[in-house]
Amino acid sequence: MGSPERIRNVAKRVARWKAQGHQIVVVVSAMSGETNRLIALAKDVSPQPDARELDVMVSTGEQVTIALLAMALKDIGVPAKSYTGSQVKVLTDSSFNKARILEIDDGAVRRDLDASTVVIVAGFQGVDADGNITTLGRGGSDTSGVALAAALSADECQIYTDVDGVYTTDPRIVPEARKLDQITFEEMLELASLGSKVLQIRSVEFAGKYKVKLRVLSSFEEEGKETAGTLITFEENEAMEQPIISGIAFSRDEAKLTLVGVPDKPGIAYQILGPVADANIDVDMIIQNVGHDGTADFSFTVSRAEFARAKALLEDKIKPHVGARVVEGDSKICKVSAVGVGMRSHPGVASKMFRTLAEEGINIQMISTSEIKISVVVDEKYLELAVRVLHRAFELDQAAA
Ligand code: ASP
Ligand code: MG
Repeated sequence: MGSPERIRNVAKRVARWKAQGHQIVVVVSAMSGETNRLIALAKDVSPQPDARELDVMVSTGEQVTIALLAMALKDIGVPAKSYTGSQVKVLTDSSFNKARILEIDDGAVRRDLDASTVVIVAGFQGVDADGNITTLGRGGSDTSGVALAAALSADECQIYTDVDGVYTTDPRIVPEARKLDQITFEEMLELASLGSKVLQIRSVEFAGKYKVKLRVLSSFEEEGKETAGTLITFEENEAMEQPIISGIAFSRDEAKLTLVGVPDKPGIAYQILGPVADANIDVDMIIQNVGHDGTADFSFTVSRAEFARAKALLEDKIKPHVGARVVEGDSKICKVSAVGVGMRSHPGVASKMFRTLAEEGINIQMISTSEIKISVVVDEKYLELAVRVLHRAFELDQAAA
C-alpha cells in the first residue's frame, strides 16, 4: 500500500474477486515506510520508548490504511467496512511489541460477510484482555491474515508482498534464482526461520497449526498479468518428481562464541547455556568437540545483535564459574542452509554440500542438520559465493529447470 494510486489498485483487485462471488476479508498493513517512520519518531522523543505507548502509536499506520481502502472500495460501488484489531476483536496476550494472538471473535466479520460486505481488518495489531492495544512484531500483518483465515476457515489466504513468490534463493544474490510454484509448509517454515524474509515466521507456524492454505503473491503485478505466486502446501507433490533441495537460505545475522578448555564433565553444557537462557539470549547452533586431556571446547551461535551481551556474560560470569581457559568470539560469520523435503529419501546431500564448499576453498566452521535441512556456518566474506555455488550444485538455477 505505497500510494493512493496503489490503494485504488488494491480496491479494484478486491472488487474483481468479489465479482467472482467470493466473500472477502482483507487484512492490510501500513503504507510502506510508515511503521519505520513512526518508530523513528517515537525514538526521537524517547530513546527507549515505553512498550505500551509504542504500540498505541505504531498501530495507527494500519488504522489509516483500513479506512483508505474502505473508502476506495465504496467509491467503486463495493460495500466495505473497516475494523481495527480491537474492534474485531483480535485478542492477544499482553507482550507489547511482540504479542501473540490468543483468540479472534469472528462474530462481526461473519455478519458483514453474510451481508455481502467486504471486511477490512488492520493487520499487525490486537488488544489484550485489559483493553490495551498490542502489536505482533514486525511483519505481523502476515500473522494477522493467517490467523483470521484460520478463524474463518477461509478457502485460501493470499499474502500480497513486494516479491512475486518464494524463490529458490534471494535473486539479489543469485540472479538465476527461480520462483517456486509450490513449496511444502515444512520447507517454508525452515526457510522463514533461516533468514528468508518473505513471510513472518509466526504466520507460517499458524498456517501449519490450523492447516491454512497459503499463497504468496506480488502486489505489484498489473491487472491481467498476475502470476499464481507460490502455493504453500501440506502434501508433498507425488505427481511431480520432488526436487531434492528446494532452496538455499542464508542469514548474516549470526555470531559465534567459543569457550576454550572447559572441563569435560557432566553438567558443563547446562552451566554454560543455563545463564545464557536466563539472560534471554537465543542460542542457535551448539557444538562441543570430543574432549582430550580432560577438557573440551564449547561453541554456540547467537544473533549478532546479542553478541556483545553474550560475550560479556561468558567473560564475566560463565568462564570463571566453569573454569574455562579462554573466551573467543567472532561476529563475522554467516549461516548458509540447504532446505528440502527430498533429502529424507536421498542420501548424499550433506556430502555434496561439503564437497561443493571445499572446491571453493570455503572452510566450514560449524554444521547442524535436521531431517530436511543442512546448515553450515562460514566466514561472512564467503556468503555470496557459498550461496551461488550451492544453488548451482543442487541444480536450482533457471537454466536447469
Ligand atoms: N506495518 C507492520 C510492519 O511494518 C506490519 C507489517 O507490515 O506486516 O512491520
Ligand atoms: Mg510484510
